[in-house]
Amino acid sequence: MSITAQSVWTNCLHFIQDNIQPQAYKTWFEPIVAVKLADNALSIQVPSKFFYEWLEEHYVKILKSALTKELGENAKLVYIIKMENTYGNKQPFTEKIPSSNRSAMKTQDVDIPLNNKNPELRNPFVIPGIRNIKIESQLNPNYSFDNFLEGDSNRLARSAGLAVANKPGGTSFNPLLIFGGVGLGKTHLAHAIGINIKDKYPEKTVLFISAEKFTQQYIDSVKKNNRNDFIHFYQIIDILIIDDVQFLSGKSGTQDVFFHIFNHLHQNGKQVILTSDKAPVDMQDIEQRLLSRFKWGLSAELQSPDFETRVSILKNKLYRDGVEMPDDIVEYVAKHIKSNIRELEGAIISLIAQSSFNKKEVTIELAKQVVEKFVKNTKREVSIDYIQKIVSDYFQMDVDTLQSKTRKRHIVQARQLAMFFAKKLTKASLASIGSQIGKRDHATVLHACKTVDNLSSTDKQFKKYVEDLTKKLSV
Ligand code: ADP
Ligand code: MG
Repeated sequence: MSITAQSVWTNCLHFIQDNIQPQAYKTWFEPIVAVKLADNALSIQVPSKFFYEWLEEHYVKILKSALTKELGENAKLVYIIKMENTYGNKQPFTEKIPSSNRSAMKTQDVDIPLNNKNPELRNPFVIPGIRNIKIESQLNPNYSFDNFLEGDSNRLARSAGLAVANKPGGTSFNPLLIFGGVGLGKTHLAHAIGINIKDKYPEKTVLFISAEKFTQQYIDSVKKNNRNDFIHFYQIIDILIIDDVQFLSGKSGTQDVFFHIFNHLHQNGKQVILTSDKAPVDMQDIEQRLLSRFKWGLSAELQSPDFETRVSILKNKLYRDGVEMPDDIVEYVAKHIKSNIRELEGAIISLIAQSSFNKKEVTIELAKQVVEKFVKNTKREVSIDYIQKIVSDYFQMDVDTLQSKTRKRHIVQARQLAMFFAKKLTKASLASIGSQIGKRDHATVLHACKTVDNLSSTDKQFKKYVEDLTKKLSV
């Protein structure tokens, strides 16, 4: 049998799999693709620079042993970093500005001082008049890594967070953007990173702030005519954590000032950590230049937790509260509340309260009632397949036609309507909607949504389509 990159790598994998934790194997080795074998050098493709650094830091020994076993003492390993990362970014996530552009970027309408000699620092967190340069981090000590339980759904984001906490500003994950749906732990994880950095580097200035509060402070600074103080304040932060950056959508003044603060921090090796309820490609009304900054580092997604993780989160919560609850009840709750950890916790808190205040025993019956209350409020989500079926039926075509490459107007319109409703009624990203409706890209979906918006306000017939379909799709 001839030796190929594939066969060498497969043997290496067997060896590695026998020697490390199954979860670690799954996370860090399954995504690797062997691409080339030349002399004694095996080239493997890894999904991102983050991946590569992680492998080098944690698995270099075992990789070396495995490879030596296969190819002898002179074995070499070559990493190829896949430039398109797997978290929805279409662009390479490391992007360097040519140095000639750098100074040009600084001269836009905000005057960014290169050093912070200004002694008149004004801290927007402090009541005016009382000068206080020591900056409170605004971190919530309850949101630590210790009680952020690990699972498949958050492994990458959690690991990236830990890596950043170990070396703030010193990894390629700058900014680190944590994104994911509501209640999946973005805020918790962002605090955890900040707390961990404070523990390790007490001398560093860490600041956690919501994008909303940041915006408010900025508006105040404009009113009070101390915009520069505002900017100076943010430029002395070592680790800036901004929660829910999607809030900056459409707020161009705040985006502008944030862009300058970001550049300053980034150029000075400071760490920026952001959270968002959307992936960068799906963020709307955020300026392109800011979006491209978001993509410089790593975007890590928090996904919905699987059943095991949900059970362990609940058990951990009960344990911390010193409450005992039968396993079948815990599992019942975990089974029925799937997509939001906040609701999961809400349900268990409500159960604890019911049982202790009413002295009722917690039974499956009671659990059912409580869960129902929580689930009823979260509307059932329709699937993209279902939407395509309803739209095709409405226009009396089949789904294949709707998805086809044709440019016939009525078919294009049907397709655009399907995309529009998929965006409106599901939590799927633009990219994922595109790939499910005729393998289009996210830009096509975005265009479709805008077209439908426009046509339904200018074209009566079209407006009727939208109304009819809205009725048919309402659940
Ligand atoms: P988001 O900011 O994404 O909306 P939060 O960070 O506010 O979500 O999390 C919602 C709740 O779920 C919080 O109480 C948080 O402590 C809890 N939570 C989220 N992820 C985890 C996890 N992995 N382990 C334990 N608790 C979690
Ligand atoms: Mg949050």
